[in-house]
Amino acid sequence: MSNSKDNNTAMNRETFEFQAEVSRVLDIVIHSLYTDREIFIRELISNAADALEKCRHHDLVNGRDPGALEIAITLDSDSHTITFADTGIGMSRDELIENLGRVAHSGAVDFLQKMAESGKKDIHLIGQFGVGFYSAFMVATEVCVDSRSAVDPTGGYRWISNGSSSYTIEPADDIPIGTTIRLSLKKDAEEFAQDWRIKDIIRKYSNFVSFPIQVNGERINTIQAIWSRSPQDVKEEEYKEFFKFTASAASDPLGWLHFSTDAPIDLKALLFISDENPERFGFGRMDSNINLYCKRVLIQRQAKDLLPLWLRFLSGVVDSEDLPLNISRETMQDSALIRKINRVLTKRVLKYLKEMAEKKPDEYRKVWDKFGSFIKEGIVTEFSDRDALAELIRFETSMTDSGQQASLADYLERMPESQKEIYYLAGPNRASIESGPYIEVFRKRGIEVIYNFDPVDDFVMHHLASYKDRKTVSADSEALELPDDIQSETTPGEEKTGSISEDDVRAIGDWIRSKLQDKVAEVKASTRLVDSPLILVNPDGSMTGAMQRLMEAAGKDFPPAVRRNLEFNPNHTLIKKLNQLRSANETQATLVIEQLYDHAALNAGLTVETRSIVDRMNRILSVLLDR
Ligand code: ADP
Ligand code: MG
Repeated sequence: MSNSKDNNTAMNRETFEFQAEVSRVLDIVIHSLYTDREIFIRELISNAADALEKCRHHDLVNGRDPGALEIAITLDSDSHTITFADTGIGMSRDELIENLGRVAHSGAVDFLQKMAESGKKDIHLIGQFGVGFYSAFMVATEVCVDSRSAVDPTGGYRWISNGSSSYTIEPADDIPIGTTIRLSLKKDAEEFAQDWRIKDIIRKYSNFVSFPIQVNGERINTIQAIWSRSPQDVKEEEYKEFFKFTASAASDPLGWLHFSTDAPIDLKALLFISDENPERFGFGRMDSNINLYCKRVLIQRQAKDLLPLWLRFLSGVVDSEDLPLNISRETMQDSALIRKINRVLTKRVLKYLKEMAEKKPDEYRKVWDKFGSFIKEGIVTEFSDRDALAELIRFETSMTDSGQQASLADYLERMPESQKEIYYLAGPNRASIESGPYIEVFRKRGIEVIYNFDPVDDFVMHHLASYKDRKTVSADSEALELPDDIQSETTPGEEKTGSISEDDVRAIGDWIRSKLQDKVAEVKASTRLVDSPLILVNPDGSMTGAMQRLMEAAGKDFPPAVRRNLEFNPNHTLIKKLNQLRSANETQATLVIEQLYDHAALNAGLTVETRSIVDRMNRILSVLLDR
């Protein structure tokens, strides 16, 4: 930040460069043609409301009477200006520099960059990235901020910028406590100085702001703390509007729950499931968006510990009379009260989701498709709620149609009495799972298998460990306790045509072991294969191929790959011919078994070096062509 006295203007006016990130934000905001420019009004009102909340809180904590707390908007269609004045907490000189010259949220620039490149539809999310103030420059040629801090009211200051690389600050003595922001509108934004236009926009976005908003002296919004009303008295439309207001969302929520409790604590809560998952942008973890109130006084915005991390996709309001007004972020973390609130809310949400899944499966499907990853995260991270969470997961299985989903309860209902375990199998998609070797034994015996298409699913099933006393087992495990009341293909006495002799089976097994001993733990004849020559199975059933690959990709410290057991199918033509080839031409036979091993590793979802597969395949092909 440079700070030079500007000699051409008033002696006490200082010029500052914006932080580089701010300049980039401004550049994007100013030069993109957003269709939703009107949201700057919501952003400035929301900042004013924040400042008013802070002022009320500050006064209450310090035993002072918070005077009139309001937002006054003045329009001048002759000079094409719009002015937002609030009687809030205000900003000192240092705060003006810190808050209006720098970006606090690291993802902000990436977000805006993306918005500028893609269809520009998501500019309405700007507030969630902590740069809402700069949206003023979508419509203004100049922004002038007058502010005096309620905390340190000694002097007032004026901040001015035209949105290029710098801004100025100068003392401004005769201004009241609070903040006044005046925008000189661009030629193409003069509509925003029109009375009806502004009133419409305020009703659309800011109706629930809990302070009076006046436009040229006329009161516009209806102030309601709808969470403190009884659910029967709140209309569906009001919920939807309130959601759009609190979450700065453009579309309706997927659902909400509104309840109050007296014991073990006094609590009123209104929680929404959004229609958007901001984490889909890939900028890391979103913050929880729950505002914490005590008797309708905002204690903390985006309060962190009210819900477990996996529920961070919820937004809304929690109001508890039992809270002290001056609870800080630090004391919240280890407050027994907050932990209690957290338990109560979590239980309610779990119950709500379960009921939605049962009674409105189509609606639940939408929630699952958008936020299923959070529920899975809950299973991996929250031991205590695992049973309740298990009821919420959905997946395709070998018995659902493609695209249809089942629950663990559905699975249990379908499985035969004698089946002890719940089976799952990872693969990128249905077709690939169904053409692989692992499914064969299950298909042969008519046993249902859960399909894990998402790379994290194996972790989820592994952490789940069991559901209603049935263990969850990866279908690539060696030891499968398959139900025995279904006829097995390996019934003694059932001789296959053209099977190789027991001696030959032993001999080919020994030979394969000698060739692959550095790669596998054990080699044995398989009883589970039908159409495939070889399969790699997981000896202890823990780290599946999908899990292994995910950990490798994450570059984490992962345990070294477990050596898998190799099973071969003595009835498979390839194995029978290989048995002949190994005496006729051992070199060629070695090439073949190595190649077959790599195929099995690929089927197991393990990372295999493409290069060696291709090289070896080329050698095999040249043998074929030399014939
Ligand atoms: P956010 O509101 O997410 O923090 P903004 O870009 O909207 O991000 O605002 C940046 C900061 O500027 C706010 O956090 C606040 O500290 C300060 N600010 C903006 N407008 C006002 C206002 N009217 N009164 C007091 N402070 C304000
Ligand atoms: Mg803001």
